Amino acid sequence: MMAILKRKVKVNSEILPVSMLHLNNPLDVLDYAKSLKITLVPFDLDGFINMIDIDLVRTELDDDISGKLQKNNEGKWVITVNSLHHIKRQRFTLAHELGHYFMHRNRAIEFVDEALYRSTHMDSMEYEANNFAGALLMPKAVISEFIAKHGASAELISEHFNVSVLAAKIRVETLQRKLYEY
Ligand SMILES: [Zn+2]
Repeated sequence: MMAILKRKVKVNSEILPVSMLHLNNPLDVLDYAKSLKITLVPFDLDGFINMIDIDLVRTELDDDISGKLQKNNEGKWVITVNSLHHIKRQRFTLAHELGHYFMHRNRAIEFVDEALYRSTHMDSMEYEANNFAGALLMPKAVISEFIAKHGASAELISEHFNVSVLAAKIRVETLQRKLYEY
């Protein structure tokens, strides 16, 4: 009886929706993405978002707005990203909105993001989402190995991980100054 119950629990855990998995840090999310056979470097954001229960909308938004994460009337989470922005910026925005989803979705039903590195209007959730995005797009172990081999050139990191030079610079600084656990 116990054995049967145990196996049932295991089977159920394999089909749980992502919203039930309590993934709240980038390492766990990377592990989960890996289990879904998502390419991790450069991180396949569209592929990952398509495989979890989030809708993705690319549309022209006001230039001040990078993107949004919102829960719609049917209770479904939707990420909207500004299609007018450079693709590398869109990638960071998507990763940032995923950060809000995994870490903050129980605290609000709408997150609207302006320029993500703007220093005013930054609260702790925005720092967390930025750090999450950096860690998802440039996983600590991978970027550390990359830097050991090729140096900390933001341009090279930008190319390798398909992120902006600014995002690469901030990630390197975050790691060097140990500003974030992941
Ligand atoms: Zn945000």
